[in-house]
Amino acid sequence: MEALLQVRDLKKYFPVKGKWFQPTTHVKAVDGVTFSIQKGETVGLVGESGCGKSTTGRALLHLLPPTGGEVIYNGRNLTKLSTSELRVLRRELQIVFQDPYASLDPRMKIRDVLLEPLEIHGIGTKQERLKKVEEILEIVGLGGHYANRYPHEFSGGQRQRIGIARSLILRPSLIVADEPVSALDVSIQSQILNLLQDLQEQFDLTYLFISHDLSVVKHISDRVGVMYLGRLVEFAPKESLYSAPAHPYTQALLSAAPVANPDARPQRIILKGDVPNPANPPSGCAFHTRCPHVMEACKSVRPELAPVDGQGHWVACHLHQQ
Ligand code: SF4
Ligand code: MG
Repeated sequence: MEALLQVRDLKKYFPVKGKWFQPTTHVKAVDGVTFSIQKGETVGLVGESGCGKSTTGRALLHLLPPTGGEVIYNGRNLTKLSTSELRVLRRELQIVFQDPYASLDPRMKIRDVLLEPLEIHGIGTKQERLKKVEEILEIVGLGGHYANRYPHEFSGGQRQRIGIARSLILRPSLIVADEPVSALDVSIQSQILNLLQDLQEQFDLTYLFISHDLSVVKHISDRVGVMYLGRLVEFAPKESLYSAPAHPYTQALLSAAPVANPDARPQRIILKGDVPNPANPPSGCAFHTRCPHVMEACKSVRPELAPVDGQGHWVACHLHQQ
């Protein structure tokens, strides 16, 4: 397999205006994230809210201009493309949002919602575009007759199917799915996850799947990255991440996740305190204020991602770098 996407040292900082006596500071929402996604693969990105996973997804698509780093898609450096080159490439790089309702104009019929991306990219004649709309509604399991309806006439799961149809209608190769099932009931969640998996096979799609829910990510991903305060702290094939988590933060997240057999649950690890303020992250290892294994060096030396096993399991923690 070849890498479809390479993300290198990606950074996204947001300025925070200080009071009159303070200089402007920055929230380092994404602070040096490196990983790749193979063609046809699903990479999951997990972490608590505010850890920078959504910002990573938007910055790598250049929906938010990155502050630093590089994104290589299919051999092309997105960071170096002009706005118009990026606009053309946008067709191949799509996003599915958590709440499709918020991104659907309530006054637009579904037909027009789905025609819009085709019109923006100048695809086909009017007739061909209408045909594509009917086709895509069938593909996502809704049926062409839904085209005449308005967003409020759909359930949450149906709206997410429309959100997926809207990104899929351009026949992209990479889809960033940002919490696509988090707003849905559990029974509907699995329908949408199954749909995403079917579509992946049918259309040779590559996914970056962002979620705070470890069991959802486990279900759908080939490899998984765990983020904490704007950085990847662990990145590994799904099997080794879930069976042998190496980072104390991942261990704590997994110990708190619901499991089918509660007797098989590892002992719950309770973390001290809350996630620190990202505008003023702790020095050294940003997790050191909450880590049950904190050592002296952790307070001053920032651990870099390094291989654990030579099998593609990486972790950023001094416990593994002695
Ligand atoms: Fe804990 Fe130190 Fe590892 Fe950070 S580097 S996770 S503080 S042991
Ligand atoms: Mg988010």
